[in-house]
Amino acid sequence: MQMENMYAALGVGPAAYRYGEAILDGLKERFEAVDAVAEYNQGKVLAAMQKHRVSAPCFAATTGYGYDDLGRDTLEKVYADVFHTEAALVRPQITCGTHALAVALSANLLPGDELLSPVGRPYDTLEEVIGIRESKCSLKEYGVSYREVALTEGGGFDWEGIRAAINERTKLVTIQRSKGYATRPTFSVGQIGELIAFIKSVKPGLNVMVDNCYGEFVETIEPTDVGADMAVGSLIKNPGGGLAPIGGYICGTEACVSRCAYRLSAPGLGQEVGANLGILPAFYQGLFLAPTVVAGALKGAIFAANVYEKLGFKVVPDGSESRHDIIQAVELKSPEAMRAFCHGIQAAAPVDSFAMPEPWPMPGYDSDVIMAAGAFVQGSSIELSADGPIRPPYAVYFQGGLTWYHAKLGILLSLQKLLDAGLAKLPE
Ligand SMILES: *Cc1c(COP(=O)(O)O)cnc(C)c1O
Repeated sequence: MQMENMYAALGVGPAAYRYGEAILDGLKERFEAVDAVAEYNQGKVLAAMQKHRVSAPCFAATTGYGYDDLGRDTLEKVYADVFHTEAALVRPQITCGTHALAVALSANLLPGDELLSPVGRPYDTLEEVIGIRESKCSLKEYGVSYREVALTEGGGFDWEGIRAAINERTKLVTIQRSKGYATRPTFSVGQIGELIAFIKSVKPGLNVMVDNCYGEFVETIEPTDVGADMAVGSLIKNPGGGLAPIGGYICGTEACVSRCAYRLSAPGLGQEVGANLGILPAFYQGLFLAPTVVAGALKGAIFAANVYEKLGFKVVPDGSESRHDIIQAVELKSPEAMRAFCHGIQAAAPVDSFAMPEPWPMPGYDSDVIMAAGAFVQGSSIELSADGPIRPPYAVYFQGGLTWYHAKLGILLSLQKLLDAGLAKLPE
């Protein structure tokens, strides 16, 4: 009763609360599996921090050139250890995930080289990096060509198409782990490993980069454990644990990562420069928390899938599928339902809970987009957030939650708003 009253005070009525509890009764084993992955990954992070003797001097701020920055250099060793790579570049000077990916691509492709995506069209923002959409300073402008092989209708790899697409110019292969805003399934690390092995059997010596956004710590292994030469991501998603206020990472072979460092700073300078400006405690502590934060977000995604699936909405992945990223899509069937869902997520937030999300014409999209987020770090999508373009099938993409309990409240409040508007009905 006490709990029910607390939820009622937060805006979730008894019927929605009890429906949620009944769903949760059936998810115990799933949640245990999520916790086991988090426990393993917590060990991995701790072992790396201990091995590299993380200590208070690592948290000191540096300014200016940042030569001999102990904290920065140690953090990069820790990341390299967690991802089982020779090297890592982890910097606040990498402004976001797209920037990290752009650095990794442009550092490892030269004029005349070709980039191949064997998993279809990459994430929206990469279209301009590559030059699929005309853009200043794209790889295309620098004489790097691009080829892609679409997935099969069932969302699988087109093995023969990939073999045929690899040619004498192919230099780098980019694989996006998460579906992003596409409707294809997210790949498991195991599937990515099979794809990398195939590609390297066709042309040994090729470099493979994996866009690891939203995938970190969802499994016990990462793409770099299965042959990727680089794994790349954003620190305001999974590995920043919600504490990193900016940043990106590239973990990989010494050969690839050193080129990334020269591209990020300047030829000749590389990894030696880049002051930390006092930001490192958040990077270390965020990485330390990341495995459990990701576990909370995963539980939220699994809960949302089951809550909405049983009400008759299509959810991707479905309620029982295994998870390879933290994103949950829910097809809500109408713009009104998207609004109600996002209103619930917003109302559950610790920050800006009083705001009312409205669709707006976001640059780069051909339809209005609605977004709900009340985050401590602007734009952080490891914090509870939901968004989607206002067009059929009216899907919202739901992700994040720094704690499982916050994710749970957000989902229950979204449900309450749908019930209030008569856009969903609880089973009898
Ligand atoms: C978020 C994301 C990106 C880009 O990251 P930003 O930090 O938004 O620039 C790239 N790829 C995927 C799959 C993503 O989810």
